Amino acid sequence: MKNVIVTGASRGIGKAIAITLASEGYRVAINYRENRENALKVLEEIRQNGGEGEIYQADVSLYDEVEQMVKDFHSKYGRIYGLVANAGIYIRRNIMEMSIEDWKRTMAVNLDGAFYLVKASLPYLETHASIVFIASQLAFKGSISSVAYGASKAGMLGLMRSLALQLAPNIRVNAVAPGTIDTDMIAGYSPEERRKREKEIPLKRIGRPEEIASAVSFLLSEKASYITGATLHVNGGFFIV
Ligand code: NAP
Repeated sequence: MKNVIVTGASRGIGKAIAITLASEGYRVAINYRENRENALKVLEEIRQNGGEGEIYQADVSLYDEVEQMVKDFHSKYGRIYGLVANAGIYIRRNIMEMSIEDWKRTMAVNLDGAFYLVKASLPYLETHASIVFIASQLAFKGSISSVAYGASKAGMLGLMRSLALQLAPNIRVNAVAPGTIDTDMIAGYSPEERRKREKEIPLKRIGRPEEIASAVSFLLSEKASYITGATLHVNGGFFIV
């Protein structure tokens, strides 16, 4: 059984990724920061479907906590095949409103968190391993409502490309760039904003977390054996490169 760590797997996209990967036979480390109840529900759902997993509390912005999680998972289950750096935050503030603390927090979770996960896991990975980062279309488009978020996700893509070069030929590193996906992250949308967004998207709807999970599953798997350093856009046509 292949072991995989999914950060931020207690809710939203990370939850869908954890459940999808477990249904495909991976043993999943379900990471969360504070939402233990939800993480336990994800684990329960995985077990009810005959899958395997375990929950791990760790704030991805703190290297020591990430390292402890990786060591605990490895010492119990052995070498790790896959990493999914999914944990992320979106602080809706423009340049005038954003505090230095909010900027640093965004970078610490979204960018440092991805780096810490890979750095801490390297000694424990299988020879042939696969890493997927969850970025965002806003890394490309910029964002009118958050000055830090797009920057953190663009940084993540730069990190992904360098890792793809440095960890080849045995470890593949790729990213998924979601468009607007129906999770707590967009719960702040007013009904008007939601309707407006649905109209703007060529496929005329907001995406489902499971639709990101399918893309992650593909990139993580051997089906993507010749793909590294790539970004897969999953956005209903909202941003076409
Ligand atoms: P979400 O519903 O807000 O869930 C966020 C998840 O990240 C939760 O499991 C949360 O854990 C975890 N998390 C937050 N800070 C953490 C930290 N410091 N350490 C560990 N875990 C932490 O968000 P989502 O929409 O599923 O987003 C998942 C990823 O997709 C993010 O990277 C986001 O930027 C990206 N994305 C989302 C969208 C979208 O439209 N939803 C679009 C593009 C990209 P707790 O439950 O314990 O708080």
